[in-house]
Amino acid sequence: MAFPYMEAVVGFMILMHFFETYLDLRQHAAYKLPTLPKPLEGVIGQEKFQKSRAYSLDKSRFHFLHEFVSILMDSAILLFGILPWFWKKSGEFLVLAGLNAENEILHTLSFLAGVMIWSQITDLPFSLYSTFVIEARHGFNKQTVWLFFWDIIKGIFLSVIIGPPIVAAIIIIVQKGGPYLAIYLWGFMFVLSLVMMTLFPILIAPLFNKFTPLPEGELRESIEKLASSLTFPLKKLFVVDGSTRSSHSNAYMYGFFKNKRIVLYDTLIQQCKTEEVVAVIAHELGHWKLNHTMYSFIAVQILTFLQFGGYTLVRNSSDLFKSFGFDTQPVLIGLIIFQHTVIPLQHLVSFALNLVSRSFEFQADAFAKKLGYASELRSGLVKLQEENLSAMNTDPWYSAYHYSHPPLVERLAAIDKSDKKED
Ligand SMILES: [Zn+2]
Repeated sequence: MAFPYMEAVVGFMILMHFFETYLDLRQHAAYKLPTLPKPLEGVIGQEKFQKSRAYSLDKSRFHFLHEFVSILMDSAILLFGILPWFWKKSGEFLVLAGLNAENEILHTLSFLAGVMIWSQITDLPFSLYSTFVIEARHGFNKQTVWLFFWDIIKGIFLSVIIGPPIVAAIIIIVQKGGPYLAIYLWGFMFVLSLVMMTLFPILIAPLFNKFTPLPEGELRESIEKLASSLTFPLKKLFVVDGSTRSSHSNAYMYGFFKNKRIVLYDTLIQQCKTEEVVAVIAHELGHWKLNHTMYSFIAVQILTFLQFGGYTLVRNSSDLFKSFGFDTQPVLIGLIIFQHTVIPLQHLVSFALNLVSRSFEFQADAFAKKLGYASELRSGLVKLQEENLSAMNTDPWYSAYHYSHPPLVERLAAIDKSDKKED
């Protein structure tokens, strides 16, 4: 008898669901704590603390429901053979439309169109509730229902344009195959990611947000001065109208080699003082100076290559396909099945990546501190935490598993610690 791959995958998914729910319960208990953690007493206002508690608890309750529905649907799709049924139906649909169902590319696109419609419909109640009930209740939501649906329409439009050529290319590469398939697939994804990184900010991001150059003034001068003192090749400095959707705030940078751009959310500029924004940028530039961006990029490339390598090993295993209910071996289905079989590894990898990411955050904080921004970074981080109503009390297991950024208490302690060393 062949190994019951599908049952093992579903079993593991359910096991992981229990484990993650246990972590969520631990974190939920931390949200309920009625007092601020000691180091934040007197740093965070009582009113902000109460608001952040209410917001976190609201989100947490919703998260339990969302996760439960997701695991129920995902296991049912696998256990009841909905995947092969859907594949068959999408072939029949092609025939009805007068197209050639023997063509794997067309069949795959028909299948993916169905998957997209299905996921849009099943996600909709959750994203509507999250945006217009939870975010709105806590004063974050700034978007209208019209803008919400317009975003979805633009998203679908984009996937219809970008998706098919990519899907077709992957299928052709796999069909041509050969012993170096993993290298070809990785090479394709590598080029694709470079193209997307170049085109996304120019063609796609402006479809959703307005990017305007940061106006001349104190803030612009300070950031430019900081960038040139670090020889950071700052080509453009933008403000994005994040406030049209949400009052959450942020800043980020992107671009290759000598062509870097920094984007500030308008909400960040409204919420923080000039020196605090500059301190946040100093932290971001720390990521660049310390090569964090490069390391992350390389890590993603290695992981992509390993995934494709694993895929090429199992892509012809008829046992694996049969276990998931397939007699044929379409490329896309092979990729989907493979993705499911490596779920245990993916959890380990994301845990490890979070671990590395948190140490990068400490390093970037220390970098900003070394440039003399300790107190501004401190107050900037506190303000962002307050304005975003981020969780003040965190469970150590939960944050170790999920957080890509260290909890505020730990970041402040680390900034203070390096303070004392220099005294
Ligand atoms: Zn950072």
